[in-house]
Amino acid sequence: MTHGEVDDEGGEPPCMLELVCEECGRLNDEPESVVCGRCGAPLGRES
Ligand SMILES: [Zn+2]
Repeated sequence: MTHGEVDDEGGEPPCMLELVCEECGRLNDEPESVVCGRCGAPLGRES
């Protein structure tokens, strides 16, 4: 219980940044999303 959760510095963790649409800012939290659910812009996680 000594591991305080004080990670409020950066907002979202780096692994989630690719889920945020650069175009409209929508957080596409569906794991398989490769394009933005709102505007259809590519999320840059094509493999
Ligand atoms: Zn978008």
